[in-house]
Amino acid sequence: MSTLPVIDKFTGERFGEVLIASPEDVDCAVGDAARAFPAWSATPAHERSRVLRRASELIDARREMLATTIAREAGKAWKHADGEVSRSVETFVFAAEEAKRIHGETIPMDASPAGEGRIGFYLRTPMGVVAAITPFNFPLNLVAHKVAPALAAGNTLVLKPAEETPLTAVALADILAEAGLPDGVLRLVHGEGPTTGEALVRHPVPAKISFTGSPPVGRLIMSLAGLKRVTLELGNNSGTIVEPDADVARAIPRCVMSSFANAGQVCISLQRLYVHDAIAESFIREFVRQTEALTVGNPLDRTCDVGPLISDDAADRAERWIREAESEGARIVTGGRREGRVIWPTVLTGTRPEMKVMCQEAFAPLVSIVTYRDFDEALRLVGDSPYGLQAGVYTRDLHKAFAAVRRLDVGGIMVNDTSIFRVDHMPYGGNRMSGIGREGVRFAIEEMTNIRMVVISP
Ligand code: NAD
Repeated sequence: MSTLPVIDKFTGERFGEVLIASPEDVDCAVGDAARAFPAWSATPAHERSRVLRRASELIDARREMLATTIAREAGKAWKHADGEVSRSVETFVFAAEEAKRIHGETIPMDASPAGEGRIGFYLRTPMGVVAAITPFNFPLNLVAHKVAPALAAGNTLVLKPAEETPLTAVALADILAEAGLPDGVLRLVHGEGPTTGEALVRHPVPAKISFTGSPPVGRLIMSLAGLKRVTLELGNNSGTIVEPDADVARAIPRCVMSSFANAGQVCISLQRLYVHDAIAESFIREFVRQTEALTVGNPLDRTCDVGPLISDDAADRAERWIREAESEGARIVTGGRREGRVIWPTVLTGTRPEMKVMCQEAFAPLVSIVTYRDFDEALRLVGDSPYGLQAGVYTRDLHKAFAAVRRLDVGGIMVNDTSIFRVDHMPYGGNRMSGIGREGVRFAIEEMTNIRMVVISP
C-alpha cells in the first residue's frame, strides 16, 4: 500500500503519513458504512445525542493536540487553530442537541376534498451512507460540519479529508470511537481527489454527497453524481462595504482580521473592500498600520497572526497575481513580500474589477481596497461577481442596510460586520458559483434526511 506524507507547512518537515485508499479500499469502506447503517439508523436519538456530546467533550479535552496538529498540517496560526477547536466543540454540541429534534409536521389533509377524513404527517428519515469530501483550510470544523449532522440524523458516512490535512480527521475519528461510535459508522479514506475522491463520488451506494472545496471540483462532482443528492459548499471573492456613517474604528480591525486570518485561506475571507471616498484616506492609513502590526511566520508561535500558505504552488500563484495586478496599474501599499510559503499580508489599491485579485478567488493574504462615492454603486460592485456566498456592509443607516439585504444575491449578509462572520448553527452556503444547499447543523441535517409522508385513512 502506498502512503501519503503529511508535511509541516511552515518547516517543510515530513511529520506523519497516512495510507492511500485504492478504489477497492474505498469500496470496502463504503461496504462497512452500508452494513453499519441499519443499526445506527435504529439507534435512539438520545443515544446518538450522547455520543455526539461525549465527542464534543473529548475534542475540548484534546484541544492542545488538535490545535497543534491543525497548526502543523494546515499552517494555521495557533490561536486561529485553537479557535477552530472551540468552534468544533460547539458544532458537536449543536449536533447533540439537534439529534433530539429531527421531526416533521402534520399536514392539514382536508385542505383538499380528496384528503378529507385522513390524517397526514411526515417524518424525516436518514438517507443511508453519506460520502463526504472536505478541503484543507478548516481540517477539523469543516469535517465536523459533515460528520456531526450526518451522525445526528442516523446516517453512516465515508469521509475523504483533504490530502494536505488528513491527521486532524484521523484524530477526530479516534475521538468518535472513544465517544462510543460503533465500528463502521464512520470510515475514513485518504488520497488525492482525482483518484480516491472520485472513486468515492462514483461509488453507486452513497445516497448523498456532501462536498466542500473549490468550484471546478464542485462542478465535476455534480456531473458525476447522477441521482445522488449533492450539497456543494464552494468558494467566493467576498466583498464588504464601509460607509462613512459606520463605526469605522470598530470596522478597521475587523476588516484586517477578515482579510488575513488563516493567511486569507477562508472561503469568506475579505478580498474586496469598498470604502467610501470621504473616509478612504484615513481608513487606508489605519488599515495599513494595523496590517503591518500583524505577526507573520511560524504558526506554532502563539502570537502568530499569519502563517504560511498551504503549498508552494499556492504561494507561487498568490505572488504571481500580486505582481500581475501591479504590472496592470495596481499599487502595493504594504506586503507583497514572500519567504518560502509565507506571503506577507498585502494591501492593494488601484485595482480594477477585471484583475485576477478582484474577480477570482484569491485564497491568499491579500485584499484590494477600492474607493467609491455612491452607495448604490458600491452595492453593484460587490454584487458584480459570479460567486454568492457572503457579503458585509458597515452602516448605521437602516435604509442602506435594507438595500444591501434586498439586492445582494448571496447566502448571507452581515450588517455591521464583514463577509467572514459565521457561527456554526446558522444556515451557511452560497448561491450561483458558491454552491448548492446549506450547512449549519440543523440545515445540514435537512439536506441529509428524506421526507417520508404518512397518510392514514379511517
Ligand atoms: P479542492 O477543491 O482542491 O479540494 C477539496 C477536496 O476535494 C479535497 O479533499 C480534494 O482531495 C477533493 N478533490 C479534488 N479533486 C477531486 C475530484 N476530482 N473528485 C473528488 N474529490 C476531489 O479545494 P481546497 O483547495 O482543498 O480548498 C479550497 C477551496 O474550498 C476554496 O475554493 C474555498 O473557497 C473552498 N471552501 C469553501 C467553503 C464553504 O463552506 N463554502 C469552506 C472552505 C473552503
